[in-house]
Amino acid sequence: MIPASGSYQLANARVHRSLTPGLAAPFDADGFALAELAVADGKITNIVAQAKSKTEANAIDLGGRIVLPCFVDCHTHIDKGHIWPRRPNPDGTFMGALNATGADRTARWSAEDVARRMDFSLRSAYAHGTKAVRTHLDSVPPQEEISWPVFEAIREKWRGRIDLQAACLLGIEGVRDKAWFERLAKRVAAAKGVLGVVTYMVPDLEELLDQVFAEAIKHGLDLDFHADETDDVAAISLKKIAEASLWNGFEGNILVGHCCSLARQPDLDVLDTLDKVAKARLAVVSLPMCNLYLQDHRNNQTTPRWRGVTLLHEMRARGIKVAVASDNTRDPFYAYGDLDMLEVYRMATRILHFDHPVGDWPKAVAATPAEVMRLDGDGVLTAGGSADFIVFKGRSWTELLSRPESDRIVVRDGKAIGRQLPDYAELDELMVG
Ligand SMILES: [Zn+2]
Repeated sequence: MIPASGSYQLANARVHRSLTPGLAAPFDADGFALAELAVADGKITNIVAQAKSKTEANAIDLGGRIVLPCFVDCHTHIDKGHIWPRRPNPDGTFMGALNATGADRTARWSAEDVARRMDFSLRSAYAHGTKAVRTHLDSVPPQEEISWPVFEAIREKWRGRIDLQAACLLGIEGVRDKAWFERLAKRVAAAKGVLGVVTYMVPDLEELLDQVFAEAIKHGLDLDFHADETDDVAAISLKKIAEASLWNGFEGNILVGHCCSLARQPDLDVLDTLDKVAKARLAVVSLPMCNLYLQDHRNNQTTPRWRGVTLLHEMRARGIKVAVASDNTRDPFYAYGDLDMLEVYRMATRILHFDHPVGDWPKAVAATPAEVMRLDGDGVLTAGGSADFIVFKGRSWTELLSRPESDRIVVRDGKAIGRQLPDYAELDELMVG
């Protein structure tokens, strides 16, 4: 129904207040209003509240279907994606995931293996309506020499369809090898990447964080941390990152993922941490599906008793930028997933209570990650912006989030794209042995 000419008017499109900045319209309690969109030359040339009278004679009447901007997925691991068939998690625990993935990386992650799995993941993300992805890249020697050139090649291949960013990933102990870490930061800078580490409560955490900030400042890099992906209340590296940012006077963007232990800590400690996170202008991304899967997974005789996610509501109330993202897909950290940000939003709604009221939570899968990733104009619908959006069947939140919406229409540069998902069988030969 979207004309191949790429020049048309859409009437009765249901748009959300949080993702249509500047639109004056009678938004309802769920944040929705009906709008008319004009599209030409790959752009949204106009977006206005739906006129009460009749629509333009040749406009396509969407009948109140929801239209959202294309998604932005700011925390993924597409270098790990889809290894599950050859390397499952033996017991569903975090340590099981770490060990299984490490063994697989050492044994199997050639350039070809990584490239084919990354490409597979991006094809899924694109088909589901995502236009920008940040992936972490395991950068433990010698993997950094294999994966960063693969990332650069794939980013070029996907340019114009998915904006791909990468952050290096290593345990913060790796920073102790100062010369090697300096080389890694240089390599990341050469690839226009983001500097990332996983923080643990090691005795020299503050010194190591200072080294990370020093390299980021030296090369003008943004930062991306994995922090406190545990129920251990003694894990307070989110606070340590905020403090390090403040005393280093860091001015770049910082995204921190997980922060699970925060939800287990006493209120006074939480308040102190959130004050610092807000002051340091950190952004936080929660990974609800992966956290639900791995956290509180003790053994097969116990039932999980908490949801694993961090305190997004309390963060948002303090003006901290908050996002949700896919994290892992079909690897030992998460046995499922397909980089479908509608699934992430649906699960986040249930796990994190993004409802009653919905408020501005839709920004968490679009406008906010776009800001964190410095993708100007992504994640919103505005006049003059790219005509990159998704037309759903659902006309309300309950309709949208109750079905998989497998028949959604993804429009890129004003035109509907083919939405064929890659066939798992394509990866079979990589899974042998
Ligand atoms: Zn992650």
